[in-house]
Amino acid sequence: MLPQIDLHSHSTISDGTLTPAQLVRHAHAQGVNVLALTDHDDVAGLREATSTALELGITLVPGVEISVTWNRRTLHIVGLRVAADYGPLVAGLASIREGRHTRAMGMADSLSRIGISGSLQGAYDYAKEGIISRTHFARFLVAQGYAKDTRSVFKRFLVKGKPGYFEHHWADMAQAIDWIVQSGGMAVLAHPGRYDLGRTNLLKLLHEFREMGGRGIEVVSGSHTVEQYQQFARLAHQFDLLASSGSDYHGPGQSYLEMGRLPELPHGCVPVWHDWAEVKGLH
Ligand code: AMP
Ligand code: MN
Ligand code: MN
Ligand code: MN
Repeated sequence: MLPQIDLHSHSTISDGTLTPAQLVRHAHAQGVNVLALTDHDDVAGLREATSTALELGITLVPGVEISVTWNRRTLHIVGLRVAADYGPLVAGLASIREGRHTRAMGMADSLSRIGISGSLQGAYDYAKEGIISRTHFARFLVAQGYAKDTRSVFKRFLVKGKPGYFEHHWADMAQAIDWIVQSGGMAVLAHPGRYDLGRTNLLKLLHEFREMGGRGIEVVSGSHTVEQYQQFARLAHQFDLLASSGSDYHGPGQSYLEMGRLPELPHGCVPVWHDWAEVKGLH
């Protein structure tokens, strides 16, 4: 049987609803045998996830999903097989998390200007000890009855041009790629189909990403349509990038794709794991 590989997922350390241990148990129950935990801007869940994976006999790939700014746009870079104790990575992620706090205050201020009060505390109540994100504001706003579900709350309040959106400068893309690569990991462009860049900017992004040391892009992703699997398989080939596959799972009922249900990469893709010893043993 082919290994079930899922290289993008979230726990309560960021905006997922399962703890790292619960997430790994769920992945195992769904038949996943290689899982990357890739929390937003934090590696604090990796120790717990790794020890649970060891207990269950599955492979946990240490990962992170870094928020970056490129040409005034927010993009996400997934780092796979990172060394979670590499100083510059640890320090870089800490500074992004500081920025998240400042941004959350800005978001709460702009929401209060349209009459929505208490959102800072409300969002932090959902974030608990994890990072603060728009997802936590979304959960608060839905609970308060401002929208019926997460998707519509984003559309009405939390995306560019809407009252709860607050412009923020994340890490520079080149810098984030460096942290990942210098820690021994591989930088993968997350869900490129979600950025709405237009053809010219997309090609420019892929070119610059490659120049900066990026090596992979997500081809199969919970955020992609089936047509986009083919589109990004072609672009991976064109830019000599390895192909990744990940559900972007955020917990039961939170994501488009369940774990263990990822389709195979399109024909011709070279997977990011093609030379990983921890995957080879499974064939
Ligand atoms: P942040 O990093 O704080 O900007 O939050 C981004 C997170 O919000 C993403 O990782 C998703 O989990 C979630 N998200 C972004 N856009 C949407 C959307 N349109 N609907 C639901 N969740 C979204
Ligand atoms: Mn998320
Ligand atoms: Mn993302
Ligand atoms: Mn993600």
